[in-house]
Amino acid sequence: MPLITTNKPRVLYLDVDDTLLIWQRTTDGTDGVSGFAAPRAAEFIRWAVEHFEVRWLTMWCPPGTLDQHSADELEYRFNKRISAQEFMAIRNPMKFEAGLKTDAIDFDDPLPWVWVEDDIMLTEEQLLRRKHLYDNFYPTNVSIDPTRLQLTWQKLAHRFMLPDAPSIITTEVDHPPTAVLTEVEIMKMFRPKMRIL
Ligand SMILES: [Mg+2]
Repeated sequence: MPLITTNKPRVLYLDVDDTLLIWQRTTDGTDGVSGFAAPRAAEFIRWAVEHFEVRWLTMWCPPGTLDQHSADELEYRFNKRISAQEFMAIRNPMKFEAGLKTDAIDFDDPLPWVWVEDDIMLTEEQLLRRKHLYDNFYPTNVSIDPTRLQLTWQKLAHRFMLPDAPSIITTEVDHPPTAVLTEVEIMKMFRPKMRIL
């Protein structure tokens, strides 16, 4: 059943790389990098779509909607714990083109919102600060700290008085079966949509 993502009283803008997916150099000598879901990332998404209207804010889909190929790729990297169809049900009605993700944040939407993202660009930070909205940004880099998404989850639950945040933080990851790509493959995947963050 597709996740229902609309008609929620608040909005969560959500990044993918380094926020939901851990990107690390592999240590098995294959000279690749692995990209796999952070601990409890699938559970976090299910919790988020239950309580927020989740909108993508990711280089995986600057237009706001995942294509089938990217959704399949995410399903694989989440070890099928979230289906491609469920990923595709998450949408952002706005898009960003010039590389500034803040272009796809709807500042006119009266709903409260938060932004879960590993890091933002200086221009984006300045814009948020000017609007006194910097507190809406939750720095969440799981490649540096795999527990970070769970900590953000706890903070969001506290801020909006929502149930079911994890009380115990885990570092256990749910690896996809063979999620090792060479760096050349990674570059092929990301070169057309390369962005610093
Ligand atoms: Mg990112």
